[in-house]
Amino acid sequence: MSSLLSRLSRGQADSQGRKRTLAIADLVEPGRTTQVRVTRNPRARRISLRVDPTDGAVALTVPWHVSVEEGLRFARREAEWLRKRLERLPESAPFAAGAEFDFLGKRVRVEHVPGGGPTRLDGDILRVGGDAAFVARRVRDFLRAQARTVLLAKSRDTAQRIGKTVRAVRIADPRSRWGSAAHDGRLSYSWRLVLAPVFVLDYVVAHEVAHLAHMNHGPRFWATVEQLYGDHRAAKAWLAAHGTKLHRHG
Ligand SMILES: [Zn+2]
Repeated sequence: MSSLLSRLSRGQADSQGRKRTLAIADLVEPGRTTQVRVTRNPRARRISLRVDPTDGAVALTVPWHVSVEEGLRFARREAEWLRKRLERLPESAPFAAGAEFDFLGKRVRVEHVPGGGPTRLDGDILRVGGDAAFVARRVRDFLRAQARTVLLAKSRDTAQRIGKTVRAVRIADPRSRWGSAAHDGRLSYSWRLVLAPVFVLDYVVAHEVAHLAHMNHGPRFWATVEQLYGDHRAAKAWLAAHGTKLHRHG
């Protein structure tokens, strides 16, 4: 048996008809409590329950004509399905000593060297100094710095081929996109791209640089991507199949 307890106050109906959070509810089962965010989407046709594979967040969406209570009853009936989905999520992989991950297509292992200088890559060993409590943060800082260097250089080289200029590269950690481009030549990328194979990183660079010429996803945009990168199907397929796993690291 499971029960759903609504925790936060309910939201008012939104006059603009936009999506909005109505309640955060706890789905209580023996030995497990799952937080469910209830959102109303006026354009939704039916109640939907989904699990975000990047962080295991559970979202319940209800159409305009369905009450929060009705939505929560639906979630309660689906508790078994939900439990299975949550159990199937990949384990998170913290950047601790001994952790292994792919860095620019090469397997590396984290080694903690107490008191030993700046973070450095030594063959396939990533040596991290300082206090053990800060190893994960130092690994992430190292990867972000590497991501900036690699993505800036590749973006500039790629842009030059179509006569465009990259003004700046920003490194961030967005949940749902790998990069973005602004009219003024500023590009933004997820640092997690250095955890992906290089052919995938190169595709994202070509994609964002192509946006400097075409700020849309029309045929001329894709022709520019092909000119810069070639056939991008394998890279897109890789991101679709493995992209969310990159969010389990660190
Ligand atoms: Zn795009």
